[in-house]
Amino acid sequence: MSNAAIVGINWGDEGKGRMVDLLTQDYDVVVRFQGGGNAGHTVVNEKGKFALHLLPSGIFRDGVVNILGNGVALNPDHLVTEMQEVMAKGVALTPDNLKISDRASLLLPWHVRLDELEELRLADKKYGSTKQGIAPFYSDKYQKKTILAGELFYPEELKAHLMDVMVWKNLTLTGVYDAEPYTEADLDEWISGACAKIKPFICDTGAFLKEAQENGKRILFEAQLGSLRDLDFGIVPYTTSSNTIAAYAPIGSGFPAGKVDEVVGVVKAYSTCVGEGPFVCEMFGEEAEQLRQAGGEYGATTGRPRRTGPLDIVATRYGVEVQGATQIALTKLDVLSYLKKIPVCTHYEIDGKIVDRFPFPVLLDKAKPVTEYFEGWNCDISGIRSWEDLPEAARNYVLYIEKEIGCPITYISVGPERDSIILRK
Ligand code: GDP
Repeated sequence: MSNAAIVGINWGDEGKGRMVDLLTQDYDVVVRFQGGGNAGHTVVNEKGKFALHLLPSGIFRDGVVNILGNGVALNPDHLVTEMQEVMAKGVALTPDNLKISDRASLLLPWHVRLDELEELRLADKKYGSTKQGIAPFYSDKYQKKTILAGELFYPEELKAHLMDVMVWKNLTLTGVYDAEPYTEADLDEWISGACAKIKPFICDTGAFLKEAQENGKRILFEAQLGSLRDLDFGIVPYTTSSNTIAAYAPIGSGFPAGKVDEVVGVVKAYSTCVGEGPFVCEMFGEEAEQLRQAGGEYGATTGRPRRTGPLDIVATRYGVEVQGATQIALTKLDVLSYLKKIPVCTHYEIDGKIVDRFPFPVLLDKAKPVTEYFEGWNCDISGIRSWEDLPEAARNYVLYIEKEIGCPITYISVGPERDSIILRK
């Protein structure tokens, strides 16, 4: 592999963090190209268990340079907290191994507040936001009403710019939501607090990536969430507010001329979905709870219990298509070991018709899952490290998925640890 992107194929939480952590051994640079602190990657390695929200998953490898690209929603307060947590466990973070794009827009103090206020206003029609300010941030970015990280190097211009944006934003806060306005003192505190702490890490990451590429370095692009949360191709409006697909990786990295040679799509052996929105294959009651317990399916950022269901072939096939995945990492196969029969959502039924193409978002509410059952293997597979040693029923399950989604499954993960992996190439 030369450059590669690691992306989620479904609703997120597929186990991307674990795969990036594994693959970083083959890469020199890891770049986060979209999203903010609204989702989390969980990484387990010899240094401990980490819930990463904004930091790229390559920070645990010596010699790997980690970049937060211009496409991310950079909340200085959250980043500082996360950096402190990671450093407290003995991980070194310096301007040599962590670089923040000077073109990354900053999530401003009012974005989180606005997110909360809007979800409150929506009441029972809420989008299920994680209330990290992501939607207000990206809306403001596209309205050109936020600031670039690099502006922190120009204090005078920065203050004037921020004051202008604050005055404009206070109109919305007080007029639309009847909330408290922000003050100049709030801004001063923010600039001298978290912003000052991240400043040493800010640089021209575009120039760095260009040079790295010219010197033959290999770049890994890391995404957050999955295909179905993509702003343009996902389950609108229950998506995130950025593009989660691999095609966006070079742009959000600050290296628009960069090429993504391989796209590793991460698929979980069953489905989970956090928050509101259509989730056609959803299971309920005892069956759903058993799977949630078996997979430890609780949000890494919010602790929210995730909705669970069987693997959804219709959604996964679509996810593979929009990501342009060239290979698949199938994770958490071990979690299904307790089942005698493994359910799979093979098709949807909409108005009495069987469909195998993922439908337009409006139709998702009408879609019903068509479920088939596969033989389970019903034994512990977490210690298995080779394809041949997997029980036949597990191999059949993997081969069936591979055939249906039309993409080779090259990694099979059977545990959270770095080495709990079966390579199939
Ligand atoms: P991400 O955002 O896509 O990285 O997903 P999560 O943070 O939800 O990670 C998935 C969770 O499953 C984490 O707690 C991982 O440690 C764990 N995990 C990842 N792969 C496997 C696996 O193959 N088996 C088991 N049992 N756990 C896994």
